[in-house]
Amino acid sequence: MALPSLVSEPEVTDRMATTRITVAGGDGIGPEIMDATLRVLDRAGAELQYDHIEIGERLYHLGHTSGIAPESWATIRRNRVLLKAPITTPQGGGYKSLNVTLRKALNLFANVRPTKSYAPFVASPHPGMNLVIVRENEEDLYAGIEHQQTSDVTQVLKLITRSGSERIARYGFEYARAYGRRRVTCMTKDNIMKLTDGLFHRVFNEVAAEYPDIQHDHQIIDIGAARVAAQPEQFDVIVTLNLYGDILSDIAAQIAGSVGLAGSANIGEHAAMFEAVHGSAPDIAGKGVANPSGLLLAAVQMLVHVGQADVASTIKNAWLCTLESGLHTADVFRHGLSQRQVGTEAFTNAVIERLGDRPRQLVPVDYRAGGITITAPVTAPVEKALVGVDVFLDWNDGDRDANVLGRRVEAAVPAPWRLKMMTNRGVKVYPDGFPETFCTDHWRCRFVQTEATPATFDGVLGLLGELSRHGLDVIKTEHLYTMNGTPAYSMGQGE
Ligand code: NAD
Repeated sequence: MALPSLVSEPEVTDRMATTRITVAGGDGIGPEIMDATLRVLDRAGAELQYDHIEIGERLYHLGHTSGIAPESWATIRRNRVLLKAPITTPQGGGYKSLNVTLRKALNLFANVRPTKSYAPFVASPHPGMNLVIVRENEEDLYAGIEHQQTSDVTQVLKLITRSGSERIARYGFEYARAYGRRRVTCMTKDNIMKLTDGLFHRVFNEVAAEYPDIQHDHQIIDIGAARVAAQPEQFDVIVTLNLYGDILSDIAAQIAGSVGLAGSANIGEHAAMFEAVHGSAPDIAGKGVANPSGLLLAAVQMLVHVGQADVASTIKNAWLCTLESGLHTADVFRHGLSQRQVGTEAFTNAVIERLGDRPRQLVPVDYRAGGITITAPVTAPVEKALVGVDVFLDWNDGDRDANVLGRRVEAAVPAPWRLKMMTNRGVKVYPDGFPETFCTDHWRCRFVQTEATPATFDGVLGLLGELSRHGLDVIKTEHLYTMNGTPAYSMGQGE
């Protein structure tokens, strides 16, 4: 077997190279699969230098709440590329997710997870599956802005921006172009969340118009996720919001065959992080049986990103050949399909021996160089006018009769304000509510002006002061704006 660009020294640190990256060995099986991955990179002739940092469990226990020491940030920011093994997140409160911290701190807006079946060599219920999920990585419910507002009610803020939506949609189409994919599917729940998911869908369509060579469509996330689970071979590239993408990625990884086979990339304008999809697998740590494929395929994504697409293709093709040879780690080994069960080291050696070979049955890859760079879009300013205010009250008197509260609020409202309606958990309860509607202690009162004059901030403060003076417990307000003359708020049921 031909071995391209062999280096005789297995030592990987500090040899002459073109791209310097940060490497984090992680916890559990992390160090084992990282060693295996670096060995393959080295033997394939990847032109890399490494700065090793420690992350994970030990650092959490040393008091670093995100599992990383402050000095490691400088290394990560300097190198801009991080190859990261999984870590063990300690149980209990007070610990922050290192991944969420890295994504937010480094502005890693795109999470890219290719998920493919390698049938007939790896057992899979979906032999034709070959999809990529491009998940928005920073926004949505993951902003972490949560409040308890009344005895009964908690809330989380879902933030969706035009610029964030544009950037991820563009990334999805650029990815499709770069990797020869034909269709990009957007998934949202915009039949319910018309403003937030609606914006994401609308912006996706705007961006799609710039890519006439790529087909596009939209599916509501619930039926879309069901189709991914049942017929994943129907999908090519999926672009979706943070939460849906999180769930969808795990569904896809699960049904593909083995969680040990998937890598993922977190891409930003200034930095990128590459890792396996799976966790630190403490149950098999130190036993030498872990499958290094997830991290190795993440490293392949990394090589394409740093412009070493030829090395990436060499490694991926050698890895495909290894799968074809039937030398399989325990997680994918199946009697009848596999030839021999091997441990981490033997599997890694098998990949190294096949560097330079091309698979016979599985489709070989031929990556083209270069990462995809999407600069932050600038959103055009809109003309904004204040036209009203939603005031949320905590009220738990009597039997929570909406008509009783409605009359109290009506009595408190100063001119020129008018109470237009009250809702409870989004359902209109005043005026003309149904007695059957269950009410909690959290009431939204929508106030508009009786006059054609524009509302003012001082006017809102005056309204709030009057409500409070009448003994009403104001817990939150949301201004109602028109943007370029169009109402920019949900209308509420019954309006
Ligand atoms: P896990 O992915 O570590 O393990 C799930 C199952 O898959 C286990 O049976 C494990 O043995 C097996 N498995 C996983 N990777 C494998 C591989 N490469 N080869 C062979 N078998 C493999 O998930 P978990 O058990 O829920 O989580 C363990 C720890 O990992 C937790 O502390 C969790 O917080 C952490 N975690 C970290 C990351 C990350 O760092 N990105 C991601 C997920 C979970």
